[in-house]
Amino acid sequence: MERNPQTLLNNIFGYDKFRPLQQEIIDRTLAGNDSFVLMPTGGGKSMCFQIPALCFDGITIVVSPLISLMKDQVQALQSNGIKADFFNSSISPQEENDVIARATKGEIKLLYLSPEKLISVSNTWLKNLNIKLVAIDEAHCVSMWGHDFRPEYTQLKVFRNSFPEVPFMALTATADKSARADIEEQLGLKNSKLFVSSFDRKNLSIEVRGQVPKKKKLQEIGRFVERKKNESGIIYCLSRKNTEEVADYLKEDGHSVAFYHAGMNPEERERVQTEFIHDDTKIIVATIAFGMGIDKSNVRWVIHYNLPKNLEGYYQEIGRAGRDGLPSETRLYYNMRDFVLYSQFADDGANSTMQKDKLSRMLQFAEAKSCRRKILLSYFGEHLTNGCGNCDVCDNPPKDFDGTLLAQKALSGIVRMKEKEGITMLINVLRGSNNAEVNAAGYFQLKTYGVGKDISFFDWRDYIIQLANQGLIEIMYSEGSALKVSPIGWKVLKGAQSIKLTLPITAKEKNRRKPKVVKMTDEGEVNTDLFTELKKLRYSISREENVPAYIIFNDKSLKAMASDLPVTENQFLAISGVGMNKMERYGEEFMAVIRKFKTV
Ligand code: ADP
Ligand code: ZN
Repeated sequence: MERNPQTLLNNIFGYDKFRPLQQEIIDRTLAGNDSFVLMPTGGGKSMCFQIPALCFDGITIVVSPLISLMKDQVQALQSNGIKADFFNSSISPQEENDVIARATKGEIKLLYLSPEKLISVSNTWLKNLNIKLVAIDEAHCVSMWGHDFRPEYTQLKVFRNSFPEVPFMALTATADKSARADIEEQLGLKNSKLFVSSFDRKNLSIEVRGQVPKKKKLQEIGRFVERKKNESGIIYCLSRKNTEEVADYLKEDGHSVAFYHAGMNPEERERVQTEFIHDDTKIIVATIAFGMGIDKSNVRWVIHYNLPKNLEGYYQEIGRAGRDGLPSETRLYYNMRDFVLYSQFADDGANSTMQKDKLSRMLQFAEAKSCRRKILLSYFGEHLTNGCGNCDVCDNPPKDFDGTLLAQKALSGIVRMKEKEGITMLINVLRGSNNAEVNAAGYFQLKTYGVGKDISFFDWRDYIIQLANQGLIEIMYSEGSALKVSPIGWKVLKGAQSIKLTLPITAKEKNRRKPKVVKMTDEGEVNTDLFTELKKLRYSISREENVPAYIIFNDKSLKAMASDLPVTENQFLAISGVGMNKMERYGEEFMAVIRKFKTV
């Protein structure tokens, strides 16, 4: 067998070249050293241990906490003709024996284990294998500081120490600086080298929409998924109840949708997940419990129905879209209520101060008026010099103006209503509305009544929230969301300080804005009819072989076929993602479809 990494990449996986850092990590591992790999979801971490595994003449152990992900990865490897298997609680005793027998005979190159299984067998048959490399995926699970701590991971150090000569590789997509040192220490890595790849996922567009009332939010999501018909996507919600509501709403509109949360039994959850992976269900509405264990490369969009708890979680969740590198959309909805609710949760939980800080960072991101990707990446220690051109702020840069007078109108309204009323009443009074509540309270007599007639209700709402964000107004959630004027607010009210506001983006502008399509450099004109036909063929093969469609070929490979129209074996092999094994197994069938299109 050819042992050259580059040749393996070309022939087995069907890819042209390594992504940044992959080659260095592979070389370091082949030289017998430990590495710590920090790459975003979809960044190509697996390749870093899969290629060395094929070079070594022994077995590579992969530790992963996610049982369904293991199966997926193993299937993907097998589809490329690689001898891989897994050993976890989902297999029968008979299958266990079979795996043990083959591993012992040296017939498995990559063996995936859950940490608890690894620990339970580390002193029995596992000890006798010719282990050449150990990869620990989701390595952040070892750190108590992380959001995903798993106690079994802490026992991996003992395992590490019993194989002092074997290179270990820790991999994760989430670890801030303090967590990194902790992870290295907890896993007992030796002189490990840290590899951090760029966290920029250029193909993900980022959009944030704040303070959208529930009904409008559902309508917007309805329109969004209508535009994305037949594409896979995930909607993350804060509560179980929300997942069911949103799923029902979309189902009524005839969408292929299911909900997923921790309150369901394991079989049900498994079924929902499998149907999603197999493209039988297009949309999943889930609590954050969903997605950890899936590797589906053609998730085309992700929506957050509520504010996530921290930027790490948010970035990981949006990262589940567009793993194949094709343009994918993400949209975050948030309102202050989410923020308050989470703050209260945080008060009751462990690490309360840290969690609240992280939550505040999350809110700052959501409310930011500068390039979102810049903010996000700087949080992970990377600095973009220019705006990204693929987020809502870059697409619609905010326009500043002197908002002092406007602020004074609002602040004086609040004071005149004795700081007892909420935002809706304030706007109604400012706009001189003649409704029953305004009349009942006698507010039409106030001096501020009607001083803001010329501004629409929604614009006022936007401005008042900006004032709250700038600290001029406090929203008293404990007092029915009554508005109060803060010390800075008083300064502005008295004319001792001026402030800037930004023009709200009107609903019209928002709707007009076309999602930006990032043109992939290696993609020409795609014949969409052919693409549809190829997808159909892929789907039927996936049913026959009972594997997810994207494991046969991912969307990117199918698109390349629909644009390059390969009809010979060599042309077909040149498609990204087509290795020898896939060429032999599926080449003829796919080329037959392409030939038909070429002749018409
Ligand atoms: P991660 O584990 O970091 O989330 P994966 O290892 O699943 O990411 O890789 C994401 C996708 O990128 C996979 O479909 C993988 O086959 C592909 N990939 C990895 N390395 C390369 C490469 N050098 N060229 C092209 N595609 C690659
Ligand atoms: Zn931007």
